[in-house]
Amino acid sequence: MNTVTVATKNAHKVSEMAALLDGVKNIRLITMKDAGLDCEIEENGKTFKENALIKAREVCRLTGKPAIADDSGLSVDALGGAPGIYSARYASEDGLNASDEANIEKLLENLKEIPGNERTARFVSAVALVFPDGREYCTLGVCEGLITREKRGDGGFGYDPVFFYPAFSKTFGEMTAEEKNSISHRNRAVAQLKEIIKEIDF
Ligand code: IMP
Repeated sequence: MNTVTVATKNAHKVSEMAALLDGVKNIRLITMKDAGLDCEIEENGKTFKENALIKAREVCRLTGKPAIADDSGLSVDALGGAPGIYSARYASEDGLNASDEANIEKLLENLKEIPGNERTARFVSAVALVFPDGREYCTLGVCEGLITREKRGDGGFGYDPVFFYPAFSKTFGEMTAEEKNSISHRNRAVAQLKEIIKEIDF
């Protein structure tokens, strides 16, 4: 069995990734808690990919085993790509993560003068896999959509209720987990990583 630690405390992300990766090349994903780790990793990179690699490298170093990490966020064209890598702390005044409600409120306020056809945005997810022997792989998944004027649906997390996906005519907040997973940025990045994993030695 090839044990890989996922560098997150978010059990939701681990189960999302496990649904795609468990069993491929005998991989079993475990959480940082399962690996006996309880530490904060500073995300001081400038891009999603840099942050995903920083987290995966640190957990790989601490466990001595392969590690996977993801870094994700929302990039809004009318805001020059913001909130981007700062998505979790967009409305924060102390640099720590803000509540989803506060982040959404700030986003809608900053977009209130922006007309419908200019409210384009994308969710982005970078997923990194790092090995103790120094091999590093990183993929990027993107999902394009539009920012609504008010929240719709109460599923998911983060910016899901204001992220409208035209092909399904629904916000991510109105989708079932299966619907969201079928097109999400994170799953697109993990699916690309799966193809890489099939080709490499473990
Ligand atoms: P992180 O990758 O855990 O640092 O998350 C970054 C932030 O981006 C989250 O706190 C959310 O605000 C936002 N985000 C990332 N992925 C999603 C998603 O699938 N739905 C809604 N918000 C997301």
